[in-house]
Amino acid sequence: MQGEKTRKLYVGTSWKMNKTVNESRQYISTLCDFMNNNPQVIKNLEVFVLPAFLAIDSAIQIINKTNSDLKIGAQDCCWEDFGAFTGEVSPMHLKDLGASYVELGHAERRNIFMETDEMVSKKVAAVIKNNMKPILCIGEEEKPSQINIALHFLEHQLMDDLNKIDRTDLKNIVIAYEPVWAIGATASAPLDYIEEAMGFLRNLLNKKFGNNCGNDQVIIYGGSVTPESARDILALKNNDGIFVGRSALNVEYFINMIKMANEVQKSKITSF
Ligand code: PEP
Repeated sequence: MQGEKTRKLYVGTSWKMNKTVNESRQYISTLCDFMNNNPQVIKNLEVFVLPAFLAIDSAIQIINKTNSDLKIGAQDCCWEDFGAFTGEVSPMHLKDLGASYVELGHAERRNIFMETDEMVSKKVAAVIKNNMKPILCIGEEEKPSQINIALHFLEHQLMDDLNKIDRTDLKNIVIAYEPVWAIGATASAPLDYIEEAMGFLRNLLNKKFGNNCGNDQVIIYGGSVTPESARDILALKNNDGIFVGRSALNVEYFINMIKMANEVQKSKITSF
């Protein structure tokens, strides 16, 4: 990547609408035990889990009790803190519970629940205002015949979603590049494709926000990451981590990917 690459690597998962509160408790307890017993493995990593809303409180209670470094977040939230928004979840309430992250603009939110870039941009601003970190998902719908078509789409989507924040907020945002065609698929996007898209996003942020901020931006990849593909994806020089769906529903698989991230991180640190 442009500049040094000794920052933390991110390993995260969203469980989507999976796992009961009890199942979530068991998973989080196992994960916290692993993290607490292996401080060397997680030293340079940021590990996060986004359970279903109903399990967030229980998950945070386990973290507080075990004093774990695991971060918990939500998979969405409203752009307002309170008021007449029946059924919505307030970012202020999530902060009050102890959430660290909120995923925004996931392809399923955009495609099934008709979220627009305008809504996503308001949510990004609301999460930052509440001192949490948005995990902003962006990605083109279809694999194009030429990557330039995807890059053009990404430029517009990212700029629209970031249009209510300024440069100083970028350090509190995780950008999750998730090509929609690679989500829930049989394989991730090709490595060179991911690398090129992420390099493009970094240059774009440099151009639009200045101060070389794109070089320091946290950008992670999501879309059919598996224990088999995780290592190569983590090793990409423009990539800061993996955001995993199905393959992390099994806690042992998730722990394996955390171990891989540690190995990749160590080799990245020594190669600079
Ligand atoms: C996702 O939905 O964001 C995702 C990455 O899912 P999966 O890993 O199952 O493709």
